[in-house]
Amino acid sequence: MSASGNGVGVWAYLAEYERDRTEILAAVDRVFSSGRLVLGESVRGFEDEFAAYNGVEHCVGVDNGTNAVKLALQAVGVRPGDEVITVSNTAAPTAVAIDEIGAVPVFADVREDTYLMDIDTVEDLITPRTRCVLPVHLYGQCVDIPRLREITGTLPVVEDCAQAHGATGPGGRAGAMGEAAAFSFYPTKVLGAYGDGGAVTTSDAGTARTLRRLRYYGMEERYYVEETPGHNARLDEVQAEILRVKLRRLDEDIAARRRIAERYHDGLGDTGLTLPAIGTGNDHVYYLFVARHPRRDELLKLLADQGIHLNVSYPWPIHTMRGFDKLGYRAGDLPVTEKLADEVFSLPMYATLTREDQDRTIAAVRDVLAVIA
Ligand SMILES: *Cc1c(COP(=O)(O)O)cnc(C)c1O
Repeated sequence: MSASGNGVGVWAYLAEYERDRTEILAAVDRVFSSGRLVLGESVRGFEDEFAAYNGVEHCVGVDNGTNAVKLALQAVGVRPGDEVITVSNTAAPTAVAIDEIGAVPVFADVREDTYLMDIDTVEDLITPRTRCVLPVHLYGQCVDIPRLREITGTLPVVEDCAQAHGATGPGGRAGAMGEAAAFSFYPTKVLGAYGDGGAVTTSDAGTARTLRRLRYYGMEERYYVEETPGHNARLDEVQAEILRVKLRRLDEDIAARRRIAERYHDGLGDTGLTLPAIGTGNDHVYYLFVARHPRRDELLKLLADQGIHLNVSYPWPIHTMRGFDKLGYRAGDLPVTEKLADEVFSLPMYATLTREDQDRTIAAVRDVLAVIA
């Protein structure tokens, strides 16, 4: 996924490290010198700062985004056998997390314009076993949560915010709209650690308390398990302290992503590529800049020949994956999702992407499209 040799890739962090190196290393040193390596001041500090950033009461740091989804679902009451409505055109961990706690993912199809959950199809998916809705704020823009709730009523909403740090939608800030919300700080994400990390946000004190227990073996008091299944899912102190540094720059980094998106729109708007459509009331943070073309595979191959290595998120809809055979879906069940999987691809997108690499990408895409169009 990273830039190789002289090429351009969809993501690379070394330019960022060069920019922030002194601050990152100072953060690591603060932790190593603090005398406390697990669940100390850095995790607590980051939790307070990230809660404030999102406008919520509580943030519980966890070890990765998959466990953030898992613990959030468990904390709002999802139990083995319960159904959770989500989408199939997301990162597989969204569904892996549901499956891991013994619950059953039920997939809604998505909208052809924004690629987000098609709320109009959700009503038909609700059964007596439905326990929760897990909308994914895919690629950096938010599902319309108020409209979703008109359909799902009192069912708890857990937002998958792994791609939407800092985004706002029609219902407000990502992470502040659901009963709970799961974030990932995997390095490529809009707010990324230097390793794995995650968090769950909520404004409900009881849910926050449950989450703290679930990430700590199910213990509230040391050595005494209050609840099963518990987990060891703690956010690491070092990653937390690095995340505090990076959180201070997050809005600036998002602004940089938006400027890059604008340049792609300016440079490629007239080429016949389908570029991202912004949903009403959305402020996109461009975790990914996803374009669409019916001859995607051919396009990507020709671009790779020119040193532009692009990525597909995601090439396989989850409901068609062998690991999820047990859910009983068949190809054709989610037509929009399946069509998108054949046509979408991501242009390079990260805050430190140089203008030169943006221009090179735009020029190469224009070149190749002139050949295959
Ligand atoms: C990255 C991601 C996750 C999983 O996060 P990890 O930190 O890699 O476990 C879950 N959901 C979505 C939508 C993601 O993009």
